[in-house]
Amino acid sequence: SLSDSLENTFKKLRGHGKISEKNISDALREVRLSLLEADVEFSIAKDFINKVKEKALGETVMKSIKPGEQIVKIFHDELTELLGGDQVPLDLNPPARILMVGLNGAGKTTTSAKLAMRLKKEGRRPLLIACDLYRPAAIEQLGTLGAQIDVPVYKPDASETNLVKVAKDALKWAEDQNGTVLIFDTAGRQEIDEKLIEELKDLHKFLDPKETLLVADAATGQQAVSVANHFDEAVGITGIVLTKLDGDARGGAALSMRGVTGKPIKYIGEGEKLENFSEFHPERMAGRILDMGDVVSMVEQVADKIDEEKAMKSAKRMQEGKFDFNDFLDQMAMIKNLGPLDGLLGMLPGMKKLKKQLPADALNTDKFKHMEAIVLSMTPKERERPEIIKGTRRKRIAKGSGTTIIEVNRLLKQFGEMRKMMRSKGKMKQMMKQMGGMG
Ligand code: GDP
Ligand code: MG
Repeated sequence: SLSDSLENTFKKLRGHGKISEKNISDALREVRLSLLEADVEFSIAKDFINKVKEKALGETVMKSIKPGEQIVKIFHDELTELLGGDQVPLDLNPPARILMVGLNGAGKTTTSAKLAMRLKKEGRRPLLIACDLYRPAAIEQLGTLGAQIDVPVYKPDASETNLVKVAKDALKWAEDQNGTVLIFDTAGRQEIDEKLIEELKDLHKFLDPKETLLVADAATGQQAVSVANHFDEAVGITGIVLTKLDGDARGGAALSMRGVTGKPIKYIGEGEKLENFSEFHPERMAGRILDMGDVVSMVEQVADKIDEEKAMKSAKRMQEGKFDFNDFLDQMAMIKNLGPLDGLLGMLPGMKKLKKQLPADALNTDKFKHMEAIVLSMTPKERERPEIIKGTRRKRIAKGSGTTIIEVNRLLKQFGEMRKMMRSKGKMKQMMKQMGGMG
């Protein structure tokens, strides 16, 4: 993956006490290849590398004691810049209207509901308006999602074909709903379709929305970028929501998006659940691409459900490699509240690699129930010092938890590996802090 190859390149750079122009050029060539492999647009990758190179060859870097660290920092800063610099909030001045556009399956309907839920949490009064007249099921889908989050949904008659009329009726409906933000979910197509674009143009003209958000599937890479351009030309987009970043999406889409379209990524979707939605922070994303972990995002995401102090402590223990089975139980309790694990784990340092080492179904919640049962069958001392759990203890634990000795062995082994991994990441982070680098 992009972050793996970058990590390797940086490891090499960090190893050098002194750095030559050749070291830098070699490293940057590798980085450029990684970027292209990750589906970053060619000219963007090239510009990016040139900028980093120029700064990296600067005198202060070349003469510093730890040039490798400094180059990584330059890389981080440039990456942040490439991703858009500062987070760009939505324009929600009245009349706040948000038009969601994009291809079929990109996640418009889901994202509309995610956004509504988020705005509601912020104390606003969102309304959802179904404008997908092509698929009656899409209207129902939005209705169901709206009901889940207790947000009123305008559902046009199934026989209606005029989008502008629907919008007109919806605005009238909205007057009685006491809403403050209107979110319009529209239809998509498999590919850009001129008829659809014409309809969208009319709708856009009528609504004159403050925000027109392109919803794009991160997994589609370069296609997402050209789709964004196309929609921008047609109706003028004000921002991008990048969805499905929880999957195997190549990070390249995120990297090219801002550079090519000039439009900010405002939110990201990281799972099917409505909670799996965050503001896009360029700096944090840069850190994530560089696999620095994103403890801040994680804490924010869990803060709603558990207290921040506890989460911070837990994240810190993880990073320091002091994680034992008691922490594991705590985390288990949090995880139960949180829902999908993939998104959360992806934010932790080194987790992507860890996930690869785990068996494919290791993140399955049933499996977690077994793990939890095993840990609950341990004595407090065993939880603190898993290394004392030898033969007969293992047998006892398997029996007590209603599992098998194979499962107990496996958990202990995985846990040991996880700790090792966390420890080495923790060390790296500490080191970087001392350097005054990017930690
Ligand atoms: P639309 O056709 O653009 O309205 O797309 P939908 O909102 O109906 O979403 C299409 C599919 O993608 C649904 O199965 C969603 O659950 C799924 N989906 C949407 N956003 C995300 C995301 O961020 N991550 C994942 N894994 N799935 C998503
Ligand atoms: Mg839809």
